[in-house]
Amino acid sequence: MNLFRPIPVKYRGESLNDRISGNRERALVFAIVLAVVASLYLAFHLIDPETASGGSLHGFYRAMHASMAAFSGIAALWFLRRTKIHAPRCEAIAHAVFIVVVMLWGTGIAIADMVNGEDMTAFALALIATSAILRMPPAFSAAALSVSAALMSIGSVLSCGRGQLDAAFAAWIYAVVAWFIAAYLEEGRKESFVARRQLEERNEELRDISFHDPLTKLYNRLYVVEAGHNIVLYHRRYGLELHLALLDIDHFKKVNDTLGHPVGDSVLREFSTIIQGCVRTSDTASRYGGEEFLILLPRTNASDARTVAERVRATVEGHDFRGVPWKLTASLGVATLASTDTMESLIMRADQLLYRSKNEGRNRVSMA
Ligand code: GH3
Ligand code: MG
Ligand code: MG
Repeated sequence: MNLFRPIPVKYRGESLNDRISGNRERALVFAIVLAVVASLYLAFHLIDPETASGGSLHGFYRAMHASMAAFSGIAALWFLRRTKIHAPRCEAIAHAVFIVVVMLWGTGIAIADMVNGEDMTAFALALIATSAILRMPPAFSAAALSVSAALMSIGSVLSCGRGQLDAAFAAWIYAVVAWFIAAYLEEGRKESFVARRQLEERNEELRDISFHDPLTKLYNRLYVVEAGHNIVLYHRRYGLELHLALLDIDHFKKVNDTLGHPVGDSVLREFSTIIQGCVRTSDTASRYGGEEFLILLPRTNASDARTVAERVRATVEGHDFRGVPWKLTASLGVATLASTDTMESLIMRADQLLYRSKNEGRNRVSMA
């Protein structure tokens, strides 16, 4: 763990939001606990001032506990509201103010305790609890803890004389320990956040690779069959019109055999560009097999489906494929969704229609 390694720039904004959302719930719980603790101390000082420590400083303790009970109560209500309405910038400022106030409160109580009995527990508890519960940037924790330690050491020397130099020193030790806790936990949060994001990105990449054909960049068979199942169910459920077109390049083997595979590959890429140019973004074009393409046309009636299929066929016929000295054509079969269809039966009918196009002389569209 390297406390000073900066977070990669592309994750900075998200990491900040992750810290704020993590602090959101912890700050709420911490504020509730503090409101209860400060109220109990206040009650203790009000009910039984004789036994409560404080000597001549009862008024100071009461004021400190009352203001902390009120402050943390209001803070708890504010943080509770933030669990529903998010405003990250506002929340980051509120968390910083909350941290500083809690540390200064513990410092104030401890300075009074020093006068009464040389007790620095409140200071140590406030600094360490805050550093352990809330995540903060190391520079911020260094500044907040230094201010607290400086006030504590000055306060203890001023209130108890120069004999308290060891207490002043102890204040800085507590501050350094608290800083290490805060910095270590924040570093851990950042590390696990970056690891989580990288894993999510890798998963997205793998998902992308597994659903796309590397040659044409179109969706592959795995994706289109999977997506098609849901599209078919949706259209059947709502009685919507759906068409499925299968396209096969005519005499494609001749391209490979005569001109070589690289030209065949380039033809397949040009085909995918043509198909994508002929359909809407709401349609799903995919490479179904070697030189076969499958197009799903959601919410499309028979006449529009035929228009799209004819447009693809005519564009192919009129296109000059790079490196191919003859005209290429394609045959299509277009099936209409029936109320009992599944994705498989729809593909099967489109395939039969495609073979009808092949048998009737190729370069044509067949529809049932
Ligand atoms: P038809 O008009 O009856 O469809 O004849 P065809 O020659 O197009 O059909 P056939 O199924 O005989 O040939 C398809 C060819 O597609 C065979 C195969 O080598 C080729 N092919 C499949 N995938 C690829 C690929 O990724 N790159 C290249 N270059 N060729 C491929
Ligand atoms: Mg074929
Ligand atoms: Mg073919």
